Amino acid sequence: MNKLRVVVLGAGFGGLELTAMLSEAIADHIELTLIDRNDSFFFGYSKFDVMFGRKTSESVRMAYRNIVKPGVSFRQEIITAIDPQNRLVTTDRGTYEADVLVVALGAEYDPQATPGLTDGGYEFYSFAGAERLRDVISTVTKGHAIVGVTSTPFKCPPAPSEAALLLHDHLTQRGVREACEISLVMPFGIPIPPSPDSSRALLAAFAERGIRFIPNHLVRALDPQRRVAILDDASELPYDLFLGIPKHRVPDVVAASGMTVEGWIPVDRKTLATRYPGVYAVGDVTSVGSPKAGVFAEGAARVVATDLIAQVTGSEPPLPYSGAGSCYVEFGAQRVGRVDVDFFSGPAPTGSFAGPSAALMGEKAYFGSSRRARWFGLV
Ligand SMILES: Cc1cc2nc3c(=O)[nH]c(=O)nc-3n(C[C@H](O)[C@H](O)[C@H](O)COP(=O)(O)OP(=O)(O)OC[C@H]3O[C@@H](n4cnc5c(N)ncnc54)[C@H](O)[C@@H]3O)c2cc1C
Repeated sequence: MNKLRVVVLGAGFGGLELTAMLSEAIADHIELTLIDRNDSFFFGYSKFDVMFGRKTSESVRMAYRNIVKPGVSFRQEIITAIDPQNRLVTTDRGTYEADVLVVALGAEYDPQATPGLTDGGYEFYSFAGAERLRDVISTVTKGHAIVGVTSTPFKCPPAPSEAALLLHDHLTQRGVREACEISLVMPFGIPIPPSPDSSRALLAAFAERGIRFIPNHLVRALDPQRRVAILDDASELPYDLFLGIPKHRVPDVVAASGMTVEGWIPVDRKTLATRYPGVYAVGDVTSVGSPKAGVFAEGAARVVATDLIAQVTGSEPPLPYSGAGSCYVEFGAQRVGRVDVDFFSGPAPTGSFAGPSAALMGEKAYFGSSRRARWFGLV
C-alpha cells in the first residue's frame, strides 16, 4: 500500500494540531513530514510572561525534538521555495514531494513599515521583541507608555488590551504606576468588536485603572527625536515608551510562491482548500476571515485533518469550518476572562463573554498544558 505523503509547512498552532490528529487516526497510512525553521514552539501569550518577567524564555519553550509520533518526522529546516502546482517544497537541506501539502506558516512582522518604530519604539509581538521589552519595562519609573496598533490585520485582537492591563499591574507592583500614564491606540471603536460584553468589561477595567482608550485610530509613525507618535489623522501623542503591534505580512517564501492575493493565501472558507489541487492553507497565513489567533488556526487544521482522515478511512467528512473559538483575555490581578466567538455559523459574527475570574485563569492554564501534552508529550 502506498502511503499518503503529507507535508506540513510550519509547526505552529495549525501544523501541530494537524500533525497530532493525523498521527492519532491514520499513522499507518501516512508519511507525514513536519517542517519548521525553529527548534521549539511557544504560545503567543507566553510573550506576556516573558515581557513582564513572570517566566523565563527557556521555561516557555517546547522543543520539537519531543515530537515522537507514529507516521511523523519533524525536520528543522528553512523552507526556501514552495511550488504549489507540483506540491514540491525546497528547504535549505533538500526537497519534498507531497501528495497533500498544508501551508501553516503563520504571519511575520514588518516593523520597518512604520517609520520610526525600530529606532524610537519597541514591539512585543515577536519573541525577541518581548525579551527586549522585559529589560526596558523593568526599569521604567515614570512617563507615558503607549500601546499602539500600527496596521490591520493583526494577531489576537485582545492582545493590545491585555498588554495595557498587564503593564498597569507591573507598574503598580513596582510602586511607580502613579508616575506613569498608559494609553491604548486601537483601530476599532471598541476593544473586541464581535463581543460587546467583553468590550464593555475591558472599557470598565481601563476606566478603573486610569488607562486611556483611543479608539478608531492606528499609529502611522513615530518621531523618535520629538518622542511623539503620529496617528492616522496626523494628530500627535507624546510618549516615553512605545509598545507597538507591528504590521503583519506572510513569510517571504509564501509571497514568492504566487499563492497570495492581496497579501494572504485565499482559501475555500468551508474546507481550507487553496486553488491548487491537494494544497490546503490554515491559520494566520490565510485570508479566511476569522481572526489571526491560535485557536482559529487549530480549528481550521481540525477541518483539514478530518477531511484527510475521511478520505483514507471512509469516515464522516468534516462539517464546514465555523470560525468558532474561545480566546482567554488577561485582565490583570490574576483574573482571566473568556470570549467565545463564532464567525461563520450565522449571518454575522457573534460573541459571548465569561467575566474575569480566578477559575478562568485555571482554564487558560489547562488550555496550555493540554496542548503541551497532546502535541509534545510533555507534562
Ligand atoms: C502577544 C500575543 C498574544 C497572543 N495570545 C493568543 C491567545 O491567547 N490565544 C490565541 O489563540 N492566540 C494568541 N496569539 C496568536 C497566536 O500566537 C497565533 O495566531 C498563532 O500562533 C497562529 O498559528 P499558525 O499555525 O497560523 O502560525 P504560527 O503559530 O505562527 O506558526 C508558523 C510557523 O511557521 C514557521 N515558519 C515560518 N516561515 C518559515 C520558513 N521559511 N521555514 C520554516 N519554518 C517557517 C515559524 O517558525 C512558525 O513556527 C497571540 C499572539 C501574540 C503575538
